[in-house]
Amino acid sequence: MYQYKATSDGRYLLSVDNHCEITAALAAFCEEKDIHSGIVGGLAAISEATFRFLDPATKQYVDKTFAEQMEVTCLTGNISRKDGVPYLHIHVTASRRDYSCIGGHLLTARVNGACELYVEDYGMDGVGRRFDPETGLNLYDFK
Ligand code: FE
Repeated sequence: MYQYKATSDGRYLLSVDNHCEITAALAAFCEEKDIHSGIVGGLAAISEATFRFLDPATKQYVDKTFAEQMEVTCLTGNISRKDGVPYLHIHVTASRRDYSCIGGHLLTARVNGACELYVEDYGMDGVGRRFDPETGLNLYDFK
C-alpha cells in the first residue's frame, strides 16, 4: 500500500503505491507508526477523488466525486485521533487537464502515477476531536 523512509528527526517520507487510495494508506501508516498527532503534506497524480464541502448555513456536507486524471498540486492536513483511530483532516487543490483547479476537503483519492507525502509525527497524545454543534465540525479537542 505504501513505502516509507524515516528521517532522523521524527519525520517520514511516504510513497503511496499506484492505484491505492491515499487516505486509507495514510491512516494505515498512522496506525503502523502509532502516530497520534502530526501534519501531512505532499503531492500526487490521481485518477479519481471525492471532495467534501461543508455548507455553514445548513451544516450539511456536500460530497462530490471527480473521475478524471488530476495533479494534486497541494495536499495539506493534520493528524489527530478520534475514538482511538486516526482522524485525518486533509485539504487538497488539484489541477485538471485544462490546467484549471478544483479543491476541497479530501475524503478519498486514488493514485494514478505517484503520491509523495511527508508526515511529521508530533509525538504527543491529547490531540483529539469533539463535535462542535455551532459549526457542525469535529474541532480539535486538546487534553
Ligand atoms: Fe476540512
